[in-house]
Amino acid sequence: MSFNGLFYFIAVALLLLTTSTIANDSILSRFQQYLQIDTAHPSPNYHKAADFIISQAKSLSLESRTIEFVKNKPLILLKWTGKNPDLPSILLNSHTDVVPVEPHKWSHPPFDAAIDHENGNIYARGSQDMKCVGLQYLEAIRKLKDAKFEPLRTIYLSFVPDEEIGGHDGAEKFANSEIFDEMNVGIVLDEGLASPEDYYRLFYAERCPMWLVIKATGAPGHGAKLYDNTAMENLLKSIESVRRFRASQLDMVKAGLKEEGEVVSVNMVFLKAGTPSPTGFVMNLQPSEAHAGFDIRVPPIADQASLERRIAEEWAPASRNMTFEYKQKVSVYGANGKPILTAYDSSNPWWSLIEEAIVKAKGKIGKPEIFPASTDARYFRMKGVPAIGFSPMANTPILLHDHNEFLNKEEYLKGIEVYESILKSFASFVEGKNGKDPLRDEL
Ligand SMILES: [Zn+2]
Repeated sequence: MSFNGLFYFIAVALLLLTTSTIANDSILSRFQQYLQIDTAHPSPNYHKAADFIISQAKSLSLESRTIEFVKNKPLILLKWTGKNPDLPSILLNSHTDVVPVEPHKWSHPPFDAAIDHENGNIYARGSQDMKCVGLQYLEAIRKLKDAKFEPLRTIYLSFVPDEEIGGHDGAEKFANSEIFDEMNVGIVLDEGLASPEDYYRLFYAERCPMWLVIKATGAPGHGAKLYDNTAMENLLKSIESVRRFRASQLDMVKAGLKEEGEVVSVNMVFLKAGTPSPTGFVMNLQPSEAHAGFDIRVPPIADQASLERRIAEEWAPASRNMTFEYKQKVSVYGANGKPILTAYDSSNPWWSLIEEAIVKAKGKIGKPEIFPASTDARYFRMKGVPAIGFSPMANTPILLHDHNEFLNKEEYLKGIEVYESILKSFASFVEGKNGKDPLRDEL
C-alpha cells in the first residue's frame, strides 16, 4: 500500500469509528433517558414513560396507541406492519415499571443512569429489569429500518404497566383482551435473566407460586407444664418436615442434578405465635394458636398434586389439629389441561430460530431453563401462545431488584445486535408448505 493509500485507509477507518461512536452515544443516551424516568412503585410515573416511548415510536414511524385497561396505567402498543399481515405476528413485550429503591444504599443515584467511565457500567433501577430490553427492541428496529429491512410478519411491541406487582392491570388484562386476540400473535418475547457466564439464558416456562399458611391449634397451658399436642409443638413438627423437604430440593441443585427453576422452592416467610404483653410476650403461657407462612414455587414439570397431598398429610395434617389455606395458588396446568410451558423441541420452530439467530450474532446460549419466579410471560402462555423469556445480558451479575443494579454499555449494545438478528429471522419466517401456523397448539 502506498503512503497515500495508507493515509486514505486510516482516514476512512477513523471516520467509520467516529460515526459508530456517535451512533453508540445516541443509543446510550436514549437508554439513559428512559432509565431516568422514575417508574418505581408505589407511584410509577407511567405517563412520562409513555410519552417517551411514543416519541421513540414516532421517530421510527411505528404506529402507536395508548390503552388504559385501568385508568392511569397506560399500556403502549406499537406496530410495524408486515408485508403479509395475515401471518401470525410477533409480540415483543416489556414492562415499564420497576421495583422501589433504597437510594442511600446505592453507589450512584438510581435514577441518574450515570455511566461509570472506568468500566462502562450504567447504574440505574431498571437497567436489567427490564428497561434495557424495551429499548433494545426499539434500537434493533431502528437498525433494521436503516438497513431498509421489511418484515414479512407484523411486529408488535407492548410496554406494559404493573408487572412488578403481579401484572393484573397490565399484561393479564392485555392477554385476555379482544385487542390481543385481533393481533393474532404467534410468538411472544418477554424478559429473562442476566447470566454471570459468557452465555445467554433462554426460559421456556416459569414456576407457579403457592403461598401457603398453615395454622396449628392446641390447648393453652401453663408455661411450666409438659403435655402433648400444644399448638407450638404441632407447628414445629410441620416446620421440621418442611425444612427436610426444602433441603432435599436444594441438595439436588447443589449436586448439579437440577437447575434452580426445576425444583420446588419452599421458604418460610413468617412465623406468628405468642400472647402479646405490654413488654413483649407473656412468658408463662403456651399459646393456643400458631401460624407459619411459606412461599412455595412449583415448576410446571413437577407433580403439583403430590405436593398438595404432602401439604395435607404431612405439613398440616388434621391429625395434629392443623389447618391450612392458600393465599395464592397458581395451577401449573393451563385451560387445556397441559402444563403451562413453551416447547423447546422441534415442535416449536421459534425455539430453533432464536437459537440460530443468537449464534449468528456471535452469542452463546445455555440450556433451556425454567424462570425461578414469575413474569408476565405466563399470561401469554396461559392463552396458548408460545413465549420465550430472554434478556440479552451475558457476563453480568444478576442484580434485578438489588442495590446498584447495572448493565455494562457493551453488553447493552451487543444485545441490540442480537435482537436485530432475532427480529430479522422471526419476521422473515415462513411456516412449512401447508401454510398453516401450527405453533399456537404446540404447547
Ligand atoms: Zn422484570
